Amino acid sequence: MKVLLASEYGFCFGVERAVDMVEDAVAAGETVRTLGPLIHNTQEMERLEGEGVATIDAPVQISRGETAVIRAHGVAPDVQAELEARASKVVDATCPFVTRVQRLTARAAAQDRDVVVVGSPDHPEMIGVKGYAPERAYIVRDASELASLPMLKDPLVVSQTTIKAQTFFDTADAVRAKTDGTVEVINTICSATRDRQDAARALSNMVGAFYIIGGKHSSNSLKLLAVCKENCEKSFLIETEDEIDPADLGGVETVGVTAGASTPQWLIDRVVKRLEAL
Ligand code: SF4
Repeated sequence: MKVLLASEYGFCFGVERAVDMVEDAVAAGETVRTLGPLIHNTQEMERLEGEGVATIDAPVQISRGETAVIRAHGVAPDVQAELEARASKVVDATCPFVTRVQRLTARAAAQDRDVVVVGSPDHPEMIGVKGYAPERAYIVRDASELASLPMLKDPLVVSQTTIKAQTFFDTADAVRAKTDGTVEVINTICSATRDRQDAARALSNMVGAFYIIGGKHSSNSLKLLAVCKENCEKSFLIETEDEIDPADLGGVETVGVTAGASTPQWLIDRVVKRLEAL
């Protein structure tokens, strides 16, 4: 059986960078604590826990002698300051694409302007961004949520990095009705999620079965599964190679493989190895 990998799969740039930064701190002998789970993948979290990396829920749980890690989603400035005050060292693994949203938001507020950020208000990335302009930033899921906002002063419109482009543009268009001033629109969506979906879709036309490796509750993995199923009925979301059922592969000559943005390479390698052995 031939195994084909999608042209884009697995760790995105920001997650890979964050995991590398944690690995470096562990290798340097530091006691590492991440604020919130570093990554939404059970197997990778277990591996990191095996290396002594623990997760904390609040800055108050960090002590002197420990290294605090800010994950790729980023945090609000007051949270960062608290970590810096408590920990011996802070490793800032905020994804540079998220840092850009934070900086743009802070800059617009400093210019006495309002900011509309299109995203989920309860997502950690958005909670962090809001902290850069608590009085001036409005987080809205879509255009319908603009109705409750006051009139805006020369608003900047930016986005959570992982939302749908259409939602962003529709909301940005609707912001014009909420201001007498100028609207500045900066698309801050990261292409990692879309690139993985496009690559999976292209490959799903060429295979008899498709394995998507990722957490059963990971939204980007579930989306990949839906995309693959459009063209390939035998598409399966699995967390490890143990879930591969050879009975599903009867008559299949070519199988496709992709992985969600939080799936580490070592898990992907194991799945590919198992499929090649079948
Ligand atoms: S999805 Fe994009 S913005 Fe989010 S961590 Fe990955 S690279 Fe960064």
